[in-house]
Amino acid sequence: MDTEQMGADLEKVLLTQEQIWERLDELAEQIWADYAGKDLLLVGVLKGAVLVMADLMRALPGSVPMDWMAISSYGSGTKSSGVVRILKDLDTDITDKHVLIVEDIVDSGLTLSWIKANLASRRAASVEVCTLLRKPDAAKVEVDVKYVGFDIPNEFVVGYGLDYAEQYRNLRCVGTLAPHVYS
Ligand code: 5GP
Ligand code: MG
Ligand code: MG
Repeated sequence: MDTEQMGADLEKVLLTQEQIWERLDELAEQIWADYAGKDLLLVGVLKGAVLVMADLMRALPGSVPMDWMAISSYGSGTKSSGVVRILKDLDTDITDKHVLIVEDIVDSGLTLSWIKANLASRRAASVEVCTLLRKPDAAKVEVDVKYVGFDIPNEFVVGYGLDYAEQYRNLRCVGTLAPHVYS
């Protein structure tokens, strides 16, 4: 699929690359100040958070280590159940580290609360979350997300790391898909 086709499959653009970068710059500044003097580790959740991680960490005014987790959550259709299996675990021992989970989107928040609890149980000094996007349903679970890029409406979005059937992750913006794509 070429870029022109990807663009044609979008119904509307919710966030442009410039808006995303501007917000990530703000979050990076806040994160850098909050974690001053602390042993910070960024933990990305594959695969959706790849682009957020790349741009967020480059926006930080200093060096920070990163690690990755890959998980699969069991659920019916498009809704996650909160039952999670680790496909790829961290390479890093996070004991006494200040962990900041980097996510693409928090929808139900079920996956995220599982990851938070799992990392906290490894004796991390702290576990917080930074997500580019958050949907309204996230309010239903008591999962504390310290850094939120944008609150978006309850629509399925693609781009900037987010996929539909593994496509559209490399779109530079975040947008919704036109109905013809689903049918
Ligand atoms: P949660 O446990 O918060 O419901 O699940 C979050 C995960 O569901 C995200 O990491 C993402 O993989 C997927 N997800 C939720 N909403 C969307 C969306 O609007 N678009 C895409 N592409 N994935 C989504
Ligand atoms: Mg994710
Ligand atoms: Mg996906």
